[in-house]
Amino acid sequence: MSYQIPERVRRLQAYDPSTGAYPVRLDANESFFPLGPELMAEVLEAVEKVEFQRYPDPYAAELCAAAADFFGVKPEEVVAGNGSDELIMLILSAFAGRDRKVLVSEPDFSMYRFYSEIYELQCVSMDKKRGSVDIDGLLRASREEDAAVVIFSNPCNPTGCGVKAVDVLRLCRESGALVVVDEAYMDFWSESILKDVAGLPNTLVLKTCSKAVGLAGARVGFAVGNRELIDALKKVKSPFNVNSMSQAAARVVLRKKDLLRERLNAIRRSAQGLKNALELLARRYPEKIQSLPTVTNFALLRCADAPGLYRGLLERGVCVRLSMGDCLRVTAGSAGENAQFLKALEELLREESV
Ligand SMILES: *Cc1c(COP(=O)(O)O)cnc(C)c1O
Repeated sequence: MSYQIPERVRRLQAYDPSTGAYPVRLDANESFFPLGPELMAEVLEAVEKVEFQRYPDPYAAELCAAAADFFGVKPEEVVAGNGSDELIMLILSAFAGRDRKVLVSEPDFSMYRFYSEIYELQCVSMDKKRGSVDIDGLLRASREEDAAVVIFSNPCNPTGCGVKAVDVLRLCRESGALVVVDEAYMDFWSESILKDVAGLPNTLVLKTCSKAVGLAGARVGFAVGNRELIDALKKVKSPFNVNSMSQAAARVVLRKKDLLRERLNAIRRSAQGLKNALELLARRYPEKIQSLPTVTNFALLRCADAPGLYRGLLERGVCVRLSMGDCLRVTAGSAGENAQFLKALEELLREESV
C-alpha cells in the first residue's frame, strides 16, 4: 500500500491567519510601529556585516546577551528561537515525551494544542473561569493527571485576562510538572515572573520580539529559565534555528531600551483609547456588543453577531480577528487605524442586520 498521511495530521485544522491585502490590519496583535528610518539604517548596517556564506551562530550569543540585558537576567538563562512558536514546539516535543500529558487552560493560544496533537501528546484541557486561568484547578489537575507540562499564556491570548505573579509562582512551586508561562503580552502588564524564574527548577518563561518589540517579521523569541533547562533546550533545538539576519536585527533593536519604552507607552495609550471608545460604543448598542476588559494590546468585543461584524469590517477594509466564536479581538493600532476601525464598526452597528 502506498504512503498514507497519518490520521492525526489529516484531522488537523491548518492555522488560518488572514492574508488579504486589507488597508487596516488589526488582527495579529503586532506593534503598529514600523522600525522607522533611523533604526532601519542601524539594522541594515548590522545586516550588511552578516557573512551570508556562513551558518548563523547556533547559540545566538550576542542576541541572547542583548535579550538577557533587556530582561534583566543572565545570558546563560536565555535561549533564542525562531519565534516563541518554535520554542513551544520544542518544549512540548522534547520535554513532554510520547503519550505523556500536556495540561492547557482553554480558551488559550491554539499552538499549545496544535503541537501537542502533532507530537502525539495527550492534551488535557481545563476550562478558564470567566476568561482567567484557574490556578487551583490547574494545580489539582496537574497532579491528578500526572501532567508532564503545564502551559498557558499570561496575560492570555485570546481572553485578555492575566494571572497575578504570586499565583503563577504558587503553581510553579507546587506543581510537579514543567510549567511554561508564555508572557508574549506581559510587556503590556506588570505581573511577570521573569525575576524569579532562574530560581525555579521546573519553570520556563517565553518571551517574544513579535509584539511590543515590533519584529514579528524577524521571527525571534526566547525561553528564559534556570541553566539546566536552558542547556537542555539548546541540546534539542535545531542547530541554526535563528537566521543571521534576524539575530543581527533583533540584537540592534533590543539595545534600544529608551525607544522601545517610548513605543510601548504609545501602544498602551492606543490600547486604552481603543478600549475607552469601544466602552462608549457598547453603551449605545448594549444588545449588539459588550466590551470585555483586557490587560493586553488588544481589545475584546463580545458580539451578538461576531461573524457578521467580522465580514462587514472586512468589506470596509478592516481586518480584525474572529475569536472564541462570539468575539472580535482587535489589536490596538495607530491613531488612524483605530479611527478607521471605529468608524467602520459604528456604521455596521447602525445597520439593523448585525
Ligand atoms: C503572538 C504570540 C506569541 C508570539 O509568537 P512568536 O512565534 O514569537 O511570534 C506567543 N504566544 C502567544 C500567546 C501569542 O499570542
